[in-house]
Amino acid sequence: MLWQKNYQWILRLPNCFLKTNYYVDNEQTYTLKLDASWRPIEVIGSFKAFNMCYSGRAQVVREYEDEDMYPFPAVIVLKKYISTRRINLHCNRKNVAWRDNNTCQYCGKRFRFKDITMDHIIPKSRGGEKSWMNIVAACKKCNSNKNNKTPNEAGMPLIKEPYIPEGNIFSYFRGIKIPNEWNDFL
Ligand SMILES: [Zn+2]
Repeated sequence: MLWQKNYQWILRLPNCFLKTNYYVDNEQTYTLKLDASWRPIEVIGSFKAFNMCYSGRAQVVREYEDEDMYPFPAVIVLKKYISTRRINLHCNRKNVAWRDNNTCQYCGKRFRFKDITMDHIIPKSRGGEKSWMNIVAACKKCNSNKNNKTPNEAGMPLIKEPYIPEGNIFSYFRGIKIPNEWNDFL
């Protein structure tokens, strides 16, 4: 396929180049992911989208036309998977801060986004996963006080239980400018 030829240059690049490539570092470019019934289910970094197409799990539906470099996929469609679930929100700092309302789940105070960290309830060093049920927003001070302990060991109870937030496709648009290329699919 033609688009595969276009993309092969990326896979041939040595790692050191990939790390300094601004597409990879900043992930400024996003791709709308549709399931096999063409329903939007997720927004992902375009580099990941490209990988999914290259590995054959998805197909490019539309490319960004105004990029100076090689085009990245703007919209992709999965070949097989049809989503029966609600939108999965990524468990990242931005979304955790949103779920927990910028509030430290240990001291209960609100902070500016830049002062919110992600705390592993069961510490990472002890096998705690980066998942919605094991990550809460914490201020820097509480995070460092808790250190490698569980809430019990640290004597720092959570102010509420973590939960998996319900998302819809528009949850992804916080902070992302919706590209024109997506309009036909939303
Ligand atoms: Zn705190």
